[in-house]
Amino acid sequence: MIEQDYPFECPYCGVELSVRLDLSGGRRQQFVQDCETCCKPIHIQVEFEGEEVLSFSAEAGDYPCQSAT
Ligand SMILES: [Zn+2]
Repeated sequence: MIEQDYPFECPYCGVELSVRLDLSGGRRQQFVQDCETCCKPIHIQVEFEGEEVLSFSAEAGDYPCQSAT
C-alpha cells in the first residue's frame, strides 16, 4: 500500500487540512471527508499519475456527487 498525505484547504472555513491518499486504491478516486473544524462534508476528487498527484480538488458538497458520467 502506498500512502501519501496531501494538504488542502477546507472550502467552507479555509482551515488547513490534510488527507491521506491511498495510491493503490485506483487512478481516480472520489470521496467525502468531513472537515475537522467545521464538520462539513468536503467532496474530494483526486487523480494520480504513478505516485504523483495529477489533479486534486476539494469542494463544498452542495451539489450531487458521484453521478455517473
Ligand atoms: Zn471547515
